[in-house]
Amino acid sequence: MIVKPKIRGFICTTSHPDGCAAHVQEQIDYVKSKPKSENGPKNVLVIGSSTGYGLASRIVPAFGAGANTLGLFFEKPGSEKRTGSAGWYNTAAFEKAATAEGIFAKSLNGDAFSNELKQQAIDIIKNDMDGKIDLIVYSLASPRRTDPNTGEVYKSVLKTTGGEYTNKTLNTDKGEVDEVTIGAATAEEIDNTVKVMGGEDWEFWVNALADANVLAEGVKTVAYSYIGPELTWPIYTDGTIGRAKKDVEKSCAKLDAKLKASLGGEAFVSVNKALVTQASSAIPVVPLYISILYKEMKAKGLHEGCIEQIERLFSDRLYAADRKLDEAGRIRIDDLEMRDDIQAAVANIWSSVSNENFADVADFKGYKDEFLKLFGFGIDGVDYDAEIDPATGVPSLAE
Ligand code: NAD
Repeated sequence: MIVKPKIRGFICTTSHPDGCAAHVQEQIDYVKSKPKSENGPKNVLVIGSSTGYGLASRIVPAFGAGANTLGLFFEKPGSEKRTGSAGWYNTAAFEKAATAEGIFAKSLNGDAFSNELKQQAIDIIKNDMDGKIDLIVYSLASPRRTDPNTGEVYKSVLKTTGGEYTNKTLNTDKGEVDEVTIGAATAEEIDNTVKVMGGEDWEFWVNALADANVLAEGVKTVAYSYIGPELTWPIYTDGTIGRAKKDVEKSCAKLDAKLKASLGGEAFVSVNKALVTQASSAIPVVPLYISILYKEMKAKGLHEGCIEQIERLFSDRLYAADRKLDEAGRIRIDDLEMRDDIQAAVANIWSSVSNENFADVADFKGYKDEFLKLFGFGIDGVDYDAEIDPATGVPSLAE
């Protein structure tokens, strides 16, 4: 099969196995170019490990510290007739590269919100990972969640929690600046979004792992959040997703107290940079902000992708002596994005950006290139006219 991108709004319905493998290899090479971590984690569970921040959070401990990793995700395998999802091919490539270097890697494809997947992960930790893990990364981004105890399905929404809100946005199909009006969420929609993207499932995970006695002394856990500048607050920080992230912070405080008391462990929320991922492409306003932000950060030599962000999270924050937490106790690797000079420049451009000047003041090419790369397209050295095998499998998930 010869695979080309098929873009439908903010999703690409095809993905390229060789391109995804090249994208993963680029990230592995980046991590290998950095000094090896002497005090990094040894046995790591990454929940949401197949794309974006979670994939980077698997690559960094594996190739930066030689850690064993168990990765969990919800992805579609390819078949003879159809390509699988990018996260499937990313994981196939990650596992092959890890195994080639003698680094243990296993994966589970299923619903991380379910009790079954939690039990399967515990079994793998007991049987294959020294019986204990010392790091849990929680990096899920999902539009829905089935409550494992009641079976009820909750859907998240991207709405404001105040009134209607109108702002500029990017029509990524046409490459045009548009206006979007985002409605206010009902109380039920806010609660449902918190149920899906809040901290409850993170707590369920850590509690299940603690009850099964598979957490090592000094275990750490981290979940990811975003804050960003005021211009995105109505849709993000003060919106339904922001409510969910506040709930993640509450869960973090509970988990931190529990882990400190029982195992001398720690829980963190890390506030990360706005980046093009499958999850962020779906948020109105944010892709336009990202296009302008990329231009500014690239011009000042400050641009980072997921792998640079997470490499810094591990080496300068999680496993560093001086953690530099903010006033609310959060790790901030959005520090460069939030620098005054960057934000002043972005705000200035935001006020005047229009269809006419968009190409000059924003990095839409960078945005599009990154978006295609998420699905394995547009990567140097990959032959996109060659036949590929869409049924490429994840080694640890082979029947
Ligand atoms: P992503 O879409 O790239 O990754 C989501 C991951 O979750 C994938 O591995 C996917 O397979 C997995 N997943 C989704 N539903 C699942 C389920 N039911 N069971 C098992 N796995 C499931 O998203 P991302 O942007 O990397 O986001 C990860 C985290 O980082 C989120 O908490 C997000 O809010 C946060 N974050 C993202 C940004 C950004 O700009 N992208 C910035 C700061 C923080």
